[in-house]
Amino acid sequence: MKVTKTVEETRAIVKAWKKEGLTIGLVPTMGYLHEGHASLIRKCREQNDKVVVSVFVNPTQFGPNEDLASYPRDFDRDSALCQTLGADLIFHPEPEDMYTDACAYVNIDTLSQNLCGRTRPTHFKGVCTVVCKLFHIISPDRAYFGQKDAQQLAIIRKMVQDLNFDIAIIGCPIVREADGLAKSSRNTYLTAQERQAALCLSRAIRKGQEIIKKGISAKTVLQEMRDIIEAEPLAKIDYVCMTDALTMQDVEQADRDVLVAVAVFIGKTRLIDNFSYEVSL
Ligand code: AMP
Repeated sequence: MKVTKTVEETRAIVKAWKKEGLTIGLVPTMGYLHEGHASLIRKCREQNDKVVVSVFVNPTQFGPNEDLASYPRDFDRDSALCQTLGADLIFHPEPEDMYTDACAYVNIDTLSQNLCGRTRPTHFKGVCTVVCKLFHIISPDRAYFGQKDAQQLAIIRKMVQDLNFDIAIIGCPIVREADGLAKSSRNTYLTAQERQAALCLSRAIRKGQEIIKKGISAKTVLQEMRDIIEAEPLAKIDYVCMTDALTMQDVEQADRDVLVAVAVFIGKTRLIDNFSYEVSL
């Protein structure tokens, strides 16, 4: 397994692979890898000749008062895990190599404005810009994203469609801890007491999944979910929403494919979770 830091050395490796006619899969991450990331890398390994994992804590997707400085990092551990999972290359650039006096950004309207976009207004601009750059640097045939960040996945799909990237976007299911908490690098911020409190997210998600049915009002589903979260003293709701699965706009009833998503502060840590409901099923 190779590790590159610069765009140039990464491009040279990719160029040689392309010359041999090999397919390339990309798993973009911010590192501090866990089983959620591992599931994406495994899927990527199954479907491609070459597997590239990017490990980059992307500064442009953090707001001014967010956790960029404290975001957990452990490159040696990440590197060992990627090696075990059979990755061929880790692209691990420095922020200065990715952004020098950058003026060009990629912004996807409307889909970015609801849900996480309300409290994190510049987040998806940062995400789309870095993913677009990674796509240009690595030219993958396929790229892998978790359903855990469902809005991000919908936005990337739209970006690929609107900007004509010839890249298949593969969505992968949410990986959870044994007790239901969705795996996240940010779970490491939680104290033991907060870790227990954080279970209100997955409990609310399970309740939503239980009661949702075709035509049910969003209000009914979301209120039951809110009740569960509000019963937890350490939890503070950012949002509990039902949206159209493609446009990310709020819907009044589950009369089409929808996303039901929550964002909740547990102490200072903001956690997200969601489920999709396909009316056709
Ligand atoms: P991150 O390092 O948090 O930016 O995540 C990198 C990729 O891993 C994103 O596509 C995430 O959606 C995905 N991911 C993170 N946590 C999970 C999880 N628990 N289950 C599935 N995918 C995940």
